[in-house]
Amino acid sequence: MVFTEISDRIESAVETVAAPFSDPVIRLGVTGLSRAGKTVFITSLVANLLDRGRMPGLRAASEGRILAAFLQPQPDDTVPRFDFETHLAALTGPEPHWPESTRAVSELRLSLRLRPGGLLGGWRGPRTVHLDIVDYPGEWLLDLGLLDKDYAAWSSETLARLADRPEAAPFLAALAAAESAAALDEPAAKALAASFTAYLERARDAGYSDCSPGRFLLPGELAGSPVLTFAPLPRPAAAPRGSLWREMARRYDAYRSKVVRPFFRDHFARIDRQIVLVDVLGAIHAGPRAVEDMRRAMAGILEAFRPGRVGWLAGLVGIRRVERILFAATKADHLHHSQHKRLTAIMAALMREARDRADFAGADTAAMSIAALRATVEERVSHGGQPLDCVRGRLLDGGREAAFHAGDLPENPAAILAAARQGAENWLDADYGAMIFAPPRLALRPGEGPPHIRLDRAAEFLIGDRL
Ligand code: GDP
Repeated sequence: MVFTEISDRIESAVETVAAPFSDPVIRLGVTGLSRAGKTVFITSLVANLLDRGRMPGLRAASEGRILAAFLQPQPDDTVPRFDFETHLAALTGPEPHWPESTRAVSELRLSLRLRPGGLLGGWRGPRTVHLDIVDYPGEWLLDLGLLDKDYAAWSSETLARLADRPEAAPFLAALAAAESAAALDEPAAKALAASFTAYLERARDAGYSDCSPGRFLLPGELAGSPVLTFAPLPRPAAAPRGSLWREMARRYDAYRSKVVRPFFRDHFARIDRQIVLVDVLGAIHAGPRAVEDMRRAMAGILEAFRPGRVGWLAGLVGIRRVERILFAATKADHLHHSQHKRLTAIMAALMREARDRADFAGADTAAMSIAALRATVEERVSHGGQPLDCVRGRLLDGGREAAFHAGDLPENPAAILAAARQGAENWLDADYGAMIFAPPRLALRPGEGPPHIRLDRAAEFLIGDRL
């Protein structure tokens, strides 16, 4: 009691002396492809930092050094605020439902008032650390690859990729009817761009991850604008002024300079801690091709963290070095905990090549399996006389309770990755199911955030050293 009073007094003294802008700031980037779990992650992380009863793995919390946590106005006035309250109400209301997913960049500032640790901790007054959480679609990072690629190179690469995908057939047919060298006809150009966008949507739904340009799927405020009205074209022998090819090339360049660059300059370059969320289980369920495709997309995304990869990015003034990157396989509550180690091993293996190549200039990296919101409980059932470890939850479709076994992941991740690389149609000796659970009905006790798996350990890795 007495201690609290003293610390309160010290605290207010410190507050009046220290200017608010001198408080340390951690900028935590949260990214991942669509539906990877960014919105649920941020909502649950913030709720669990505000009420820390389920965060024993975050040392500052278990040692009682977090005196207070509170939301504050964010420093960037022009960036949309992450709609924490609405998302939390969706997850924890009487009829819980999943919140709206990430569609653009958004930000939230959570401030932590801390009692310093260590021997001298008692002598120093509390300090405040601001955690600025920046949520942005991983698809946008794929666009970094466009910065050093001109329209001709991008077109030929993209068309090569599309050639054997059934999802691209309507677009390829539309393309066959178009003439790159002919004079631009705006409605025709728009129709081509729409057909290309429709392809990207189908490809994403089919489980492909290499769906760039990123803003075609997640346009934010740019929907319908000319910078998004282009598509890859076969290169004509000559492209006169005013031709379809020339105009599309011009728009592609505008997309790069007016959309892609500002995002990297204003948001990405200022991040110092990063979590990359990956729906590994979802890809495994979709099949070997989806896994291989995800591996490639993640390698593309991670290029962004490779210093010097794009000279322009490395040369930015004030660029921060990302010090820690956590790769997290999400929705681990679909698996019994006995499988989590295997999921983490697959996650690590998926990132391995990208990590070796990118090196991340000394950034600490780790892989983990997490569930930001635990929607299931574990259960052992008898299946054909044999015990089977399952998870039980409320199904999103119909709300019925069901026990579910997703299939046993292999001990050696190479079994998954090799089949994926070889372009197998199906998994040979296993069958991986998926189920979509609804968020659980929660009766939270005071001081408790929503249930999760390893969210505290993820937080410790990402920010623990700065608290
Ligand atoms: P975003 O597009 O990256 O923002 O993805 P969301 O956070 O909106 O998550 C997409 C969907 O994944 C949600 O609607 C849920 O169905 C599911 N999901 C996300 N996190 C979890 C989790 O921790 N557990 C379970 N069971 N499902 C999750």
